[in-house]
Amino acid sequence: MGGRIEGTGDDARILCFDPRSGERRAEVPCTPPGAVAGLVERARAAQDAWFELGLDGRRRAVAELHRAFLARADEVVALLAEECGRPAGEAWTSEVVANHDLFRWWLGHVDDLLTPTPVDLDPLSYPRKRGAVRLLPRGVVGLITPWNLPVAIPLRTLVPALLAGNAVVFKPSEHSPRTGALLGELCAAALPEGVVTVVQGGAEQGRALVEARPDALVFTGSARTGRAISEAAGRLGLPVSLELGGKDAAIVLADAELDRAAAGVVWGAFAFAGQNCAAVERCYVDAGVFDAFVERVVERTRRLRPLADVGPLVTPEQLAIVERHVREAVAAGARALTGGRAEGPGLYHPPTVLVDVTEDMAVMREETFGPVLPIVPFERPEDAIAAVEASPWGLTASVWTRDLELGETLASNLSVGVATVNNHGFTGALPSAAWGGTKGSGHGVTNSRFALYELTRPQTVVVDAARGPRELWWYPYNDALARVASGMIALSRRGGERLQGLRAALSGFIHRWKDDP
Ligand code: NAD
Repeated sequence: MGGRIEGTGDDARILCFDPRSGERRAEVPCTPPGAVAGLVERARAAQDAWFELGLDGRRRAVAELHRAFLARADEVVALLAEECGRPAGEAWTSEVVANHDLFRWWLGHVDDLLTPTPVDLDPLSYPRKRGAVRLLPRGVVGLITPWNLPVAIPLRTLVPALLAGNAVVFKPSEHSPRTGALLGELCAAALPEGVVTVVQGGAEQGRALVEARPDALVFTGSARTGRAISEAAGRLGLPVSLELGGKDAAIVLADAELDRAAAGVVWGAFAFAGQNCAAVERCYVDAGVFDAFVERVVERTRRLRPLADVGPLVTPEQLAIVERHVREAVAAGARALTGGRAEGPGLYHPPTVLVDVTEDMAVMREETFGPVLPIVPFERPEDAIAAVEASPWGLTASVWTRDLELGETLASNLSVGVATVNNHGFTGALPSAAWGGTKGSGHGVTNSRFALYELTRPQTVVVDAARGPRELWWYPYNDALARVASGMIALSRRGGERLQGLRAALSGFIHRWKDDP
């Protein structure tokens, strides 16, 4: 289910299955791997004219893309249901409303964000000079994405990359090729030819895209693929941004508003059927409120409706991982208070709350990427923090407490890319909030002004209107130059040294050119 690649070479195609029912829905031809390098070259040729269009022209085209995206929102939601089994409420909020905000934010802020920043040039040291740093596009951005948010993840790179003047060659996941094709179609209608190109297929096409040497690579996906891409990018000397998996923790303190914390953790764990890089995959709860919290979580989880509130897993491989994590945990002494076994329909796995888990279990260490919520009691908040810090992952984490100051202090000290107090994981939908991880979760940044550092390169241009024959620091080097420099440093010190510094600097200036008039 999801997508399955059949055939080889130029005849390969993706068979698309509905993960809710197993029904075959469509077929998408794969891009021949041998054609990918040519597509990158075509994008390179289109990029020049796209950049030359200027920011106003590019903004108009991206605004047109925004309008076209909204006009086909119903179709997007229907495709997300067929390809990913996504419940409608979830598809509308995470893949339509969030992307509407994304377009609006970038269209509204891009002028400021791309405005050149002046270089500070002290007129005494650097007379008659001016300079600025501007952000230039990288050129062709190779974009490789997963299936779990098949619209939002590509758009969070496409929109700023295009506004900055890049062309993009985009390879959607083989499990969401029709959503990828729809994005490609929208781009083709709104933008000049070749500015956005879609490459369809799986690992083979992904590798071909990397080997085609785009000017920058933006990858979102599993840690395993991220490592392979990073190695290839290192060999080819390509800049690469990696947004990888996670094992997010929620820490519930004794004074937390328990009803809110339970509702938030249930959503954080089971939205997207747990197939969310920022899903709550570990929940640490103060032992004093453990039973009351677990009771609330279980009660809320039992109310979730199959497919209407919690969708299916998207691939059989993912379902197998979820089943293994639950099976091994239960065999080692964990108890499933809800769910525990997949019984369909399709690839549906019921939301599963586990207790009596231990840190050595796979369900506590490896990314599960499914609807499983292990809950663990702690005696002291330090113990929970230590457990979170010991993890090789560092995407997001949350702290739940009524003491907002304490919550903020604890959250700020966690080694994660995004930390929230009394909420979890939703900030991926905030275009002005930087999104990215630490440690095994990668080093890429999407959203916010900081995403531009992945998609542009700063160029400094300095113009010197000085007409004099030379600069102070040019040849010849002599004692006078050393006196000027050391005198300037002494001037910035305190006390008597300042006067000495002034004297040394002045005498240096006077004698600076005595050997070279
Ligand atoms: P994946 O790594 O299997 O695939 C991601 C993409 O890489 C797909 O398009 C795939 O075809 C391509 N690919 C596979 N092998 C390749 C190779 N050798 N070279 C080039 N491309 C290759 O990941 P997935 O299963 O599609 O996605 C789930 C993972 O993504 C989870 O680990 C999840 O946590 C992570 N994720 C992270 C974020 C984030 O923002 N950090 C967001 C969403 C998902």
